Amino acid sequence: MASTVLAVADRHTAAPESERAILRTESLRKEFRSGQQEIVPLDGIDFSAERGELIAIVGPSGSGKSTFLHLLAALDTPTSGAVYFAGKSLLSLAESELADFRNRSVGFVWQRHHLLPDFTAAENVAMPLLVHGKPEGEALRTAETWLGEVGLASRAGQRAGELSGGEQQRVAIARALVNDPVLLLADEPTGDLDERNAAGVFDLIERLHRSHRLTTILATHNLILARRADRILGLHHGKLAPGAEALADAAVSIPQAAGAGANAPGGLG
Ligand code: ADP
Ligand code: MG
Repeated sequence: MASTVLAVADRHTAAPESERAILRTESLRKEFRSGQQEIVPLDGIDFSAERGELIAIVGPSGSGKSTFLHLLAALDTPTSGAVYFAGKSLLSLAESELADFRNRSVGFVWQRHHLLPDFTAAENVAMPLLVHGKPEGEALRTAETWLGEVGLASRAGQRAGELSGGEQQRVAIARALVNDPVLLLADEPTGDLDERNAAGVFDLIERLHRSHRLTTILATHNLILARRADRILGLHHGKLAPGAEALADAAVSIPQAAGAGANAPGGLG
């Protein structure tokens, strides 16, 4: 029962030129006050993602990547400015439409998987469906299909707490996509993984992005992986800058300890 707003964003609908940008921000600003101090991680960001794009957001730790993704997902509200989804400002949505946007249009993956360790992989993936009242058997069958898509069909009945870090992140990705969203937002999804698992999870995101015709925005410290995106944007001093400039800014922020310069996987912040 997609509302009119969300129906506009159906990936199978041919979009008029004016709605090519499925997600857009206008002068997006976020301030945090901590004691006397005011922090402005986002200082007037104009951003636009076209349907089907895979965009990497890079930037040093504390530059506002998570803050930005949270605003895009309507998990937090801007101090000023606006986020537009399919041409409609999130600020104009009624509470029920906003909940619908969060739950059905956006899949969110965190750096830490936030799985329930005592529940099985399938139960974790089914959780967003169960919350919406889908019958348990049906929800678990859908979850198992998604576990197959992330290469974990054989682990459906295993407790999430017993899976490896890479496997847990795959389960988290399946859970993020189980409602068949149009947007996938991933906040350093490979940040807790070693190089090999990070590459595997990135491969998976890339594959699901294409096969499910998602629009994907991911924050990452990993410049090697970021370079595989359609577009790289660097977040620095509250502003988003495109392309090579973003990489240069990000590279400057690699700590000495990373050792291998701008090519170091996971070397930022
Ligand atoms: P990143 O994800 O790039 O590491 P964040 O978006 O988490 O950066 O944080 C950006 C800045 O905003 C940091 O200085 C952080 O301390 C601050 N910040 C984030 N969330 C809050 C909050 N809820 N209250 C106060 N400050 C915050
Ligand atoms: Mg972060």
